[in-house]
Amino acid sequence: MPSEATAGAILTIDLGAIRENYRRLQARLGAAQCAGVVKADGYGLGAAEVARALAAEGCTSFFIALLAEGVALRRALGPGPAIYVLNGLPPGSENEAVEAELAPVINSTAQLKAWGEAGLAAGRKLPAAIQVDSGMSRLGMPPAEVEALSREPTSFDGVAVTLVMSHLACADEPAHPANERQWLAFERLRKMLPEAPASLANSSGIFLGPAFHFDLVRPGAALYGINPTPAEPNPMLPVVRLQAKVVQTRSVEKGAGVGYGHTYRAEDPLGLATISLGYADGWHRRAASAAWFENVRLPFVGRVSMDSIILDISALPQGKLGAGDLVELLGPSQSVDDAAGHAGTIGYEILTSLGPRFHRRYTG
Ligand SMILES: *Cc1c(COP(=O)(O)O)cnc(C)c1O
Repeated sequence: MPSEATAGAILTIDLGAIRENYRRLQARLGAAQCAGVVKADGYGLGAAEVARALAAEGCTSFFIALLAEGVALRRALGPGPAIYVLNGLPPGSENEAVEAELAPVINSTAQLKAWGEAGLAAGRKLPAAIQVDSGMSRLGMPPAEVEALSREPTSFDGVAVTLVMSHLACADEPAHPANERQWLAFERLRKMLPEAPASLANSSGIFLGPAFHFDLVRPGAALYGINPTPAEPNPMLPVVRLQAKVVQTRSVEKGAGVGYGHTYRAEDPLGLATISLGYADGWHRRAASAAWFENVRLPFVGRVSMDSIILDISALPQGKLGAGDLVELLGPSQSVDDAAGHAGTIGYEILTSLGPRFHRRYTG
């Protein structure tokens, strides 16, 4: 990781806020447990750091998407916590998962068979979650497959089913009829499977009420400060702050073309600042936006470049902003959800795009 002195931008991640968000979610649950979803490197914020912070809050179940992420997380966490691989295992990689003590989320009969064979070869039942497709049509066994397995007594030989789960497609829209339909399908399907703790809710699913909590909930976004209830004020604490360094400032005459393609032309004499952050850092070229300096909004002008963005700083007194000063792109002045709104995307994509060139500072 680049040092604070050598990096163009600084990403501050408040692990204390992540821990508080975990406590806020856990407080909404009765007897249900709260897992931590740390796929995609903890939504871009550092899976190892985030998972260790959650473990310190008592979190004992983690979810990642890929086997490779699971192997790395096991190294970071050590033995003990359950680590589930959401996408299941690529065919032939079962031994790697056994070695790292990972539990696949089994999404098909073929995956179940391969894991069962690995268990029989190892001479013990290997832990796994079984995922059923309750209506999202993305991952998990379709109902016909679940029914077929339930009729075959040897289906689960070599496998210890430690969780039965499914995933909601529309949890962030509480009035969406799919939520109720998926709940009913999940209830029906899980009864055909070996008895095990059940899990349906992601972050937004937690806010659909206790019926959706079952035994384990699987929040990701809410832990990282993304609003799980988009129609209501955000009940979570913000977690990230992104600041970029000013490279240089200049004054331009009326009519000056600014940036690639001269897509912006100064309508008046302007003060400009160029900052060390661009689309190679995950700030997408289409994401029109602004930065802030001491609560003053500094709009982007012209195109986002690979390594730099030009700001209109005419709203600041001359000489107020100079080389090396930090302007804020995410933080108190602009939340992750605000930035996503301006970019026509979701907070998840803003966070997971954050680049490897930043200096990362962990606090709390
Ligand atoms: C990503 C994911 C989650 C976490 O979802 P959030 O909306 O970030 O809370 C939970 N379950 C599954 C299956 C997922 O893929």
